[in-house]
Amino acid sequence: MSAERKTLEERAQMSDIDRLRHSCAHVMATAILRLWPNAQFAYGPPVENGFYYDFDLPDHRITPDDFEKIEAEMKKIAKENQKFEWKGVSRDEAIALAKSGRLGGLTERPGNPSTFKLDLLEKIPEGEQISTFQNGDFIDLCAGPHVGYTSKCKNVKIMSVASAFYMGDETKPQLQRLYGTAFPTKEELDQHLVQLEEAKKRDHRKLGKELKLFHIDEDVGQGLILWTPNGATLRQELQNFISEELRKQGYSQVFTPHIGKTVLYKTSGHFPYYKDSQFSPVIENDDLTKIIKEGCGCCEMMERLGAVSAKLRSQLNERVGTEVVTEDRVLPDDKLLDGFLLKPMNCPHHIKIFDSQPRSYRDLPVRLAEFGTVYRWEQSGELNGMTRVRGFTQDDAHLFCTEEQVADEVLGCLSLVKIVLNTLGMHDYRVRVGLRDPDSSKFTGDPAKWDAAEEACRKAAATLGVPFTEEPGEAAFYGPKIDFVIKDVIGREWQLGTVQVDYVLPVRFDLSYIGPDNKPHRPVMIHRAPFGSMERFCGVLIEHFAGHFPAWLAPEQVRVLTISEKADAFASDVFAQLKAAGLRATFDNAADKIGAKIRNAQLDKVPYMLVVGEKEAAVQSVAVRHSKKGDLGVKPIADFIAEITDEVKERRL
Ligand SMILES: [Zn+2]
Ligand SMILES: [Zn+2]
Repeated sequence: MSAERKTLEERAQMSDIDRLRHSCAHVMATAILRLWPNAQFAYGPPVENGFYYDFDLPDHRITPDDFEKIEAEMKKIAKENQKFEWKGVSRDEAIALAKSGRLGGLTERPGNPSTFKLDLLEKIPEGEQISTFQNGDFIDLCAGPHVGYTSKCKNVKIMSVASAFYMGDETKPQLQRLYGTAFPTKEELDQHLVQLEEAKKRDHRKLGKELKLFHIDEDVGQGLILWTPNGATLRQELQNFISEELRKQGYSQVFTPHIGKTVLYKTSGHFPYYKDSQFSPVIENDDLTKIIKEGCGCCEMMERLGAVSAKLRSQLNERVGTEVVTEDRVLPDDKLLDGFLLKPMNCPHHIKIFDSQPRSYRDLPVRLAEFGTVYRWEQSGELNGMTRVRGFTQDDAHLFCTEEQVADEVLGCLSLVKIVLNTLGMHDYRVRVGLRDPDSSKFTGDPAKWDAAEEACRKAAATLGVPFTEEPGEAAFYGPKIDFVIKDVIGREWQLGTVQVDYVLPVRFDLSYIGPDNKPHRPVMIHRAPFGSMERFCGVLIEHFAGHFPAWLAPEQVRVLTISEKADAFASDVFAQLKAAGLRATFDNAADKIGAKIRNAQLDKVPYMLVVGEKEAAVQSVAVRHSKKGDLGVKPIADFIAEITDEVKERRL
């Protein structure tokens, strides 16, 4: 909930657009009061893309049918060009106004005190200036800032209504929350509304169903994606493409299991500290039977699962050089309980592969890549189609290198991202370089190494030729990182994955390589999953392409459509040739009219339709239709196959 109270200083820094939108919240409240004078207003901040106001309206439930009426009233108020007037008041004056129902009202309302405003007043720290803003008859408890006059608030639109607990607190009354948006000009408002319409059409959850790309089944579990054949094809093509690029860059492919013992994550530090974002560990039957016989309760079991041996504790503390494992976590060996975790990340498994053999500086960098599936516990309210899930496959890789190699390796990671995004027609993206906050003690390790790694990230980001920002304090505690944010064709931003430099895990796992001096040295690790996960990336791609995938990604590339059964023989020969050429083709020789067949193919967003009738059969040719470009003329089947094969091979858009 964004019900956090803003300080006066934060308010003073409110952007122009937020100031406008917050002013519109006052205008909306004024309009609602003209229609329902008993409304009690709580809290009305600007939010991303708009504003809302929470209010109690006991005798009426706002529905979309009311929006027009409220908007009309708001436009009237804009026309009236009311001035927003600030007035400082004492606490007593404010309390008196609230008690009379005047705060958040158009008039005094005897017997209907402004209860939420009274509560908000209590939250204002002693000594802070209390103020009201008035426009027309509406007086609100507010520190501002506001635009000058309501005439600025004319380009508004009510968007939706929802329920919300007062201050986001479930124990408090449930209120109605009305959302709106506003822009300085009508053009900007219209453009925003068109974009929202377009976003609705492109919604990957909607298209995912229509194009049979993926399925979520309650019995399998929320947030767990079933990739149906069409979606699986899309994902496989994408993975093939990324894998090809990885091979060119000298990565080695590995496979690792979906689970690992908890001791692995105790060493890495992922368990039990992040246990709230993980699935509970799986305990072997024999162990479970044994501890049940011992009469071990739930709490004790969790404690024993999270505990470490004295040996592991001293090893870890010695390696890291500080007390990362406290003494209260140690239990005698016969009390320790190990289970398996569904892996929350792939790093520890890859570390074990690196550490499975002696490494020399000549072997470095070692680049291990895996489309590795990980599981994280997300609250059910957070789940969203493919973009917020509980099981996902990262385009993961871990690079183990010398300190001198960090800069080149980070650069390599970025150039791969550039190739992939450009191929997908995503030219508009930016990167964020997360640096440490020098004033914070959260960021451990040698400051000189940090400086070098930050410089490497900064330089690498600069070579991309895209906008980048430096964000102090946004680094991971173990090293700096680079995040990717892409803008899709309708201007929405999507956060993808990251590249992170890590000095900590090599220490925790005591990794080493033999240097030219014949002595052991510590490698640096780079984690990189630039596209985040296949689930999220495919979700974004579905929306980016609006389901109209280029031929190389399209689950179905070509559909052969017959005009009449007289063309069946030649059409089935065409179909056989397409299959033989390795194309994903289907054959529609149903009795439907050709118009209906084209419409179906169009709805399924098949890039190429080959229309075959008697006329085409006579000249051994096909009439080619593209789902977006329309009619492409009649050509011999061999020519079409040669053309589309090139198009797919070159991964043209
Ligand atoms: Zn205000
Ligand atoms: Zn990792």
